[in-house]
Amino acid sequence: MKKIKEWMIHPTYIKRYQDGFPLITKDALISGVGPVNEGDIVHLVNQENKFIAKAYYGKQNKGIGWVLTTNRQMKLDAVFFLETIRKAINYRASFYNDNQTNAFRVFNGEGDGIGGVTIDYYAGYYLINWYSEGIYTYKKVIVQTLDQLVDFHAIYEKKRFQRKGEYIDDDDFVAGTRGEFPLIVKENGMHYAVDLNDGAMTGIFLDQRDVRKAIRDTYVEGKRVLNTFSYTGAFSVAASLGGAAQTTSVDLAKRSLPKTIEQFSVNGIDYEAENIHVMDVFDYFKYARRKKLSFDMVILDPPSFARSKKYTFSVAKDYTKLLKEALSVTTKGGMIVASTNNATLTMRKFKGMLAKGFQETKTSYRMLEEHSLPKDFRVHKHFARGNYLKVLIYQVN
Ligand code: SAH
Repeated sequence: MKKIKEWMIHPTYIKRYQDGFPLITKDALISGVGPVNEGDIVHLVNQENKFIAKAYYGKQNKGIGWVLTTNRQMKLDAVFFLETIRKAINYRASFYNDNQTNAFRVFNGEGDGIGGVTIDYYAGYYLINWYSEGIYTYKKVIVQTLDQLVDFHAIYEKKRFQRKGEYIDDDDFVAGTRGEFPLIVKENGMHYAVDLNDGAMTGIFLDQRDVRKAIRDTYVEGKRVLNTFSYTGAFSVAASLGGAAQTTSVDLAKRSLPKTIEQFSVNGIDYEAENIHVMDVFDYFKYARRKKLSFDMVILDPPSFARSKKYTFSVAKDYTKLLKEALSVTTKGGMIVASTNNATLTMRKFKGMLAKGFQETKTSYRMLEEHSLPKDFRVHKHFARGNYLKVLIYQVN
C-alpha cells in the first residue's frame, strides 16, 4: 500500500485544525512540505504522529492546501465528491426553483467542504473555477460527479492558477454541447449577457446579486446614479430598471463600452439615453467637478488593486480618498454605495476608512444597509475570511 504523506503540525495550530479550520498555511507545518505533488492527499498529524485531519496539497496565494475531513474513517474517493457536491446542490434548491433567477453559485469552495474550487450555474451551463494545480488533478472525478447529479448543456472552466493565481487563457470548454454566447441569464427578473468562454470574467459578478436588487427596488426612483468601476454596467442596469432618471457608468477598460451597451440592450433600455465613459474614475471625478455635475447615488466598486497610466489605487490604502472624491460629486441627501471584495480588509476596518472620509469632509452620514456574501456563496463557519464581500449603503448630508 502506498504510504500516505504526513505533515506535522505546530502545537499552536493543532486546536484550530481539530476545530475545523480548513486552510493550511506553511507556517503551521513543523515538518515542511516535503516531497509532495500537487493534488496529493496528506494527513495532518501532531508531534506524536496522531491523526488530526486529511487534506490535499494545492498551492494558492493564501495557502498550500485545504483540509477535506477531520474524520479518519472518511475515504477521499468518488463517493466523497458525490456526497459533498450533492449536499451543495441540495443547499441551493431554492435557487434552482426560482423562476426569476437562473445564475448562482452551486459550490463555494471550503464553504461547501472542498477549498480551491467553485462551481457556478448560468442558465443550464456550469462554470468550474480551479484555484490550484492540486485541485485541478481532481477534474475528472468532479466533472463526472456533476454529470451524475445534474443536467446541463455544457460545462466550462477557468483555470486560475498561473503563478500569482491569474487566469490561464485557454479554450474553456470542458463537456457537453458548446454554448452560443452571449448567453442571457436572469437575475431577479433582470437580464444579463454572459460569455463563459471569453477570458477570465463572464460579464457579471454573481456575488452582488442582493446589492443589485436593493439598488433597483429601494433607492433610485428618479435619481441620477454614478456607477464607478462599472465593468459591464450591471449596477447601472439595476438602477435604470429601478427607475433612475439617468445612469453614468465609468470604467477604464475599452471593452466596458460595448459590454455595457449590450447589458442595457438585453433589458430593453435605450443606452443612448445613458452615459457611458471609458476613462479613469479619478479623471472622471475631476471632470464632473469642473462641469458641476452631481449625483444622488454614487457606487464605488473598485478592484483591490489597480494601476493605470496615471494612478495606482489600493483598497487597503486609498478607500478614504476614493470616498472623498465621490462625496465631492454627491448631492445633499444623496447615497453612497461602497463595496470591496478585498478578503484581508475586515468589515470593521472598512467602516473605519469610510468614517474617516466622512469626518474629514464634515459629512454627516447614516448607514442604510450592510451586505456581505449572498446565501449561495456559502461561508465556512471557521473561515470568516472567506466572506470577502463588504458592501455598505449610506445616506449623506
Ligand atoms: N462594479 C462592477 C465590477 C467592477 S470590476 C460590477 O458590479 O460588475 C473592476 C473594474 O474596475 C474593471 O472593469 C476595471 O476595468 C475597472 N478599473 C480598474 N481601475 C480603474 C480606474 N482607475 N478607473 C476606472 N475603472 C477602473
